Parts: sequence; structure tokens; C-alpha cells
Amino acid sequence: MNEVAFHIMTKPTGPICNLDCKYCFYLEKERLYPGKHSWKMPPETLESYIRQHIETQTINEVTFAWQGGEPTLMGLDYFRQVVELQRRYGANRRIVNAFQTNGVLLDDDWCRFFQENQFLIGISIDGPEPLHDYYRVDRGGKPSFQKVMRGLEFLHKHQVDFNTLTVVNDQNSRHPLEVYRFLKSIGSLVMQFIPVVERLAEGPSADGLDLVSPEHGEKAHVTDWSVDSDRYGSFLCAIFDEWVKQDVGRRFVQLFDITLESYMGMPQSLCWFRERCGEALALEHNGDLYSCDHFVYPAHRLGNIMEEPLLSLVQSQQQKDFGNAKADSLPKQCLQCDVRFACHGECPKHRFLETADGEPGLNYLCSGYLRFFRHTAPYMKFMANQLRLKRSPSEVMGLAARLEPEFAKAARNEACPCGSEQKFKKCCGRTR
Ligand code: SF4
Ligand code: SF4
Repeated sequence: MNEVAFHIMTKPTGPICNLDCKYCFYLEKERLYPGKHSWKMPPETLESYIRQHIETQTINEVTFAWQGGEPTLMGLDYFRQVVELQRRYGANRRIVNAFQTNGVLLDDDWCRFFQENQFLIGISIDGPEPLHDYYRVDRGGKPSFQKVMRGLEFLHKHQVDFNTLTVVNDQNSRHPLEVYRFLKSIGSLVMQFIPVVERLAEGPSADGLDLVSPEHGEKAHVTDWSVDSDRYGSFLCAIFDEWVKQDVGRRFVQLFDITLESYMGMPQSLCWFRERCGEALALEHNGDLYSCDHFVYPAHRLGNIMEEPLLSLVQSQQQKDFGNAKADSLPKQCLQCDVRFACHGECPKHRFLETADGEPGLNYLCSGYLRFFRHTAPYMKFMANQLRLKRSPSEVMGLAARLEPEFAKAARNEACPCGSEQKFKKCCGRTR
């Protein structure tokens, strides 16, 4: 029997949130459910979802990913019920709960519960106070940084494992080391940097949303808050350069780990960098299942889990076509690209540019990824080789230290001493 495994981002409050972050792509999804008054996943939907999610997967460890909107708005009793239902239906299975929150409502009770039930917490934080508060504000436009820091104190107090999710936007992307050092200072051991790339329709869209998918055929422009592609590349390279000298094996940056997976020939643990996708779906509060969190649009609604079995929706032809399109729609420029094995054209949500030949489907972040993947190549090769020899990849920090005097001597137009086969000024010289 083939193994059945998939991932679902569960949105028990739909798009409802206690913050009003100016760059959030999900808040406007409220418009997909006009006239709606209650945004809580009803108990019968929750129970059916938990039962089906456990019963249909054949793997030993089943992960539930709670997201929003803001899941703490459901209240603690709701998640006590979640754990109870998981116990009822999860005989002999290991259940993992990943919980993404803005941290504002965390207190002793929440954190005690997280600790007792081994929830893995993701905290959304965009950097030090001015960078975080630039976009992450409440409905009255008031900043949220101090409340998030208070929430973090509760997590520390109760020794709850957490990672950080930082949305890389047009503001904080200009301050990579400030962001990285700040995240270290608050005790983040695992960091995710998620680029924000959104397009705003210039006229009415068919589904009434302003932020449109790449399939939108009418005029649209990239929003002011989206990160610039080159700057995103520089942001990643600057953080990598500090990490590779000081923090390998001590701090984990999701993209660095995934890039190393690519060099090891392993399946990438994030769909964005896999050849095909379609195994990371999104469940709305009312049981509607969508192909992906990035494609919560009417055209990508697969059905409702209260009307059709979850498994038949996950295994539907529509979903298979969605996942295969990631590979099948790659433009020639990607097919011929030297870093395709690591990038795979990244997420289709960001593919709305044309290539130099006028072919559609090039990723908006292409130039940034090219820079990052080429810049990190010598170090990634070194670490992959270490792992194959059953040695510690952290020895790469010695390599980075040995290269420092070479960088000091290198001329801008010479080959970069790191061995990337690029000019110094376009590689390691960029961040010096
Ligand atoms: S569309 Fe993007 S986010 Fe969604 S499953 Fe595919 S790669 Fe992942
Ligand atoms: S770096 Fe650019 S050209 Fe290369 S695979 Fe990624 S998106 Fe395509």
C-alpha cells in the first residue's frame, strides 16, 4: 500500500485576527464568505476533521497545523477539546500540534497548556520594535511589539519550544543583520524568513479580492510592501554570511537547511523548493478545503470535508493537476538554470514575470534566489560533503574564517575567493 501523507493548514477562525497587519494577504478572504457572522469552526466540523485527518494518513506521526487568522481567538477550551479529540481518534499514533500565533494573547494558562501538550509554537515577529511595528499593528493602528514581547516572556517562563516567523517586506529587508541579531537576542533557535510578494488588482477582480493570484489576467501591480527581489537575495546572503561564521549547528534558518537538503539529494522539507507540490492544503473554518494556503481562491476550492471525504478531496484529479503544474509550467529559463535543483522555480504564487524571451511564468524572486543559491554554493557543498563523511557540518565555520583574509585582499572584478565562480563584487564582496 502506498504511504498517504499530507499537510493541512487549519484555520479555525478563518481570516479573523486581532491584528490588522498592513501586508496581510489573508484578512480580505472574509469577502469569500459574504454575510458570515460566526467565524468559528463548529464542533462537528472539528471532530470530523480530526478523525479524518488521523484515519486517512498511514504515517505514524500526524501533524496538525493551527493557523489563522489568529487561532488563540478560539479560546483555550477549544484547544483542550482538540487534544481530547486527538486522544480519542489517535490510538497508537504520535500527534504533533504546530501552532502559529501573533503572540498577543499568550499568558500563563496558554503557555502551561502548550508545555503540557508539547505544542510547537511559531511566533510572528518581524524584527526589532520599529521594524516590527511598521506593519504589524492592531485594528486601531496601534503597535503590537510590546504585546508580542510579553507573550514571549510567558513562553520562556513555561519553557515552551518556539520558532520565529519573520515576514520579509520592503522595510525590514533593508536591515538583515539587525533583524537576525534581534531574533537571536530573543532566544530564537529556529527562524523562518518568509518573503511577502503580493499584487494588487488595478480593477475589480472576478472573486472580489484585491490581492490577486498569478492567474489573474487583468492589470495588477506589485504592492509597496512587497520585498524587492534583489534586496531579498542580499538579505538572505547577509544573514547567511554571519550564520556561516558563528552559528552553524546553534541556530537553524529554514531556508539554509532546505538548501542543504537539496545538496544532499534529499526531498526538500518545504513545498516551495520541491519539484512538485500539492501536499500542503488549507482548511477554512467551515470545512472548505483549498489546494493551498497561497491559493485560497474560489477556483482552487476542492470541496467541503462535511460533504465529501477528506481523502477523496486530497487525492482528487484537481489537486493532482495543481501539484503537477508546479513542474510542468516551468519556463525554459528555469529548465536551463544552474540552481534549479535547489529552487525549482519556487512557489507558483510568485510566478508572474516574463523571462527575457517573453515566456510567462518566471518567479518574481528569481534574481534574489539566483544570488542566494550561487553565493552559498561553496559552503553548501562543503557541508553536504561533511555530512556524507559523517562529520559535523559546523566545520564550515572554519572554512568561512579561513576565507576572511582572502576577502580582505580581493579586488572587485576578480573571481570570488569563496569559489562560487562569480566576480567578487557580485558575490561575497556584496555584503562587505
Ligand atoms: S502553491 Fe506554493 S505554497 Fe502552495 S503547495 Fe505549491 S509551492 Fe507550496
Ligand atoms: S533561480 Fe530563477 S531561473 Fe533558476 S529555477 Fe529559480 S526562478 Fe527559475
